[in-house]
Amino acid sequence: MSVQKILNTTYDVTVAVVTAPYRAGSALINKVKSVAFSILNTVAPRNLVTKNRQFKVIPSSWVNDLGAAYYNKLCPLHKISQDQSLNSEVAEVFAKLVAKCDNPGLKFEIRVMDDDKLVNAMCLPGGKIVITTALINKLKSSGVAPSELVGGEHIAFQDKLAAVLAHEIGHACAEHGTFKMQVKLCVVLTANVAQYALPVFLIKDRKATPVANKTPEEGEVKKTQENSRRATLEKEKMLAGQRKAVGTLAGLSVRFFGFFYAQAHSRCKELEADKVGIKYACLAGYKAAGAVWLQNMFMEMKNEKGQLKSTGFFARWFSTASDLIASHPPSLERLKANQETVGRLAKGESLQQVFA
Ligand SMILES: [Zn+2]
Repeated sequence: MSVQKILNTTYDVTVAVVTAPYRAGSALINKVKSVAFSILNTVAPRNLVTKNRQFKVIPSSWVNDLGAAYYNKLCPLHKISQDQSLNSEVAEVFAKLVAKCDNPGLKFEIRVMDDDKLVNAMCLPGGKIVITTALINKLKSSGVAPSELVGGEHIAFQDKLAAVLAHEIGHACAEHGTFKMQVKLCVVLTANVAQYALPVFLIKDRKATPVANKTPEEGEVKKTQENSRRATLEKEKMLAGQRKAVGTLAGLSVRFFGFFYAQAHSRCKELEADKVGIKYACLAGYKAAGAVWLQNMFMEMKNEKGQLKSTGFFARWFSTASDLIASHPPSLERLKANQETVGRLAKGESLQQVFA
């Protein structure tokens, strides 16, 4: 072996020995990083619509399966509209929107339900969507919205329909159903802890102080024991009463704040679905102003007392599945937000700028 070869071998061995701990450490760090990211992506994956991380305590697959079960159980096939032309028209717009949404891998499905009373559309987790013929008729027949609301554009039926369906698809992609269920679950669990466990920790028995320090007479022993037993029972009764009162108050407080928290977030989710819906509609080739027209129509209906109320089959259906359904209360806030988004697009801002 030549001297050069010996030197090279010595150098290689020295480098290998010196860097071994570093390489081992680096491999360990990479492994820890990989495991940490894997856990993070499971516990708090990024929302496909907002791109923000969100805690997920219920797997999406469970919620989506539940959504599908509700859809098939509570959405009877005999109520589906038999108007083939209408079904095809809806399916065409729906397919174009799904192709442009953030999660086209969901098992999207749409049904046009024959209900001439309930003007509504809804989305169950996993992309199961329903639109009623009453809403479709409204989209076809409602008068033209004031031109200043939609920038003077003519809004075709397909643009209005796209606005409705894109909003629903937005709910599905952003997993608003999962969020709603999680909030509900957390409120129920926290309320139960507050009602039943918290009072036990807060209200504790204080040890009784000895009543007498002299040695009791024989007759007094039984009397003292009886008094002690009665006192213990009284105290237990009093403690149980206090715990029940505190627990009820704590449980109700949690439910009360949970309700308002859910309501506040429900408003945010509506605005989110509106905005992402406008994006999907634009990408699919429909007019963004359809979303403004739609909100204006709902606001007009809201102002006409009783128009949104219905006692028909689907009104009960919506009520039964309300835990899963993303509801869509119309509001001036939504109308203004849609106007702002559409206005920015009309002024020439790009989709990337508006939906950043
Ligand atoms: Zn909605």
